[in-house]
Amino acid sequence: MPETQTFDDLGSVIVFDHDDKGFEDWVSANQAGYVLNFRRGYGTLHHSTCPHLRMSVGQTSTGYRPKMCAHSEAALARWATDKGHKPPVWCQTCSALRETAPAKVF
Ligand SMILES: [Zn+2]
Repeated sequence: MPETQTFDDLGSVIVFDHDDKGFEDWVSANQAGYVLNFRRGYGTLHHSTCPHLRMSVGQTSTGYRPKMCAHSEAALARWATDKGHKPPVWCQTCSALRETAPAKVF
């Protein structure tokens, strides 16, 4: 079972670590969700439908980098800062697709 952290006001963040099947299933079931990915220590927010998340197996799989999933981008930002990371930024591709510009600053 994936690790889950629930914030009372923001909902739950699910962590998929070495669980590509779980991650794929979550994305399929939550097309309007958000995914947080870390790259060189920097957190990047994506829509669950972002092509970056499924670009190449091995490079983006959960075994290489855990994926945090939530229905709220604020929950992912809270998760990251609670863990001592910098607030995540939006992926450029996803940012361009966002209906609610400008990107929220946490
Ligand atoms: Zn993206």
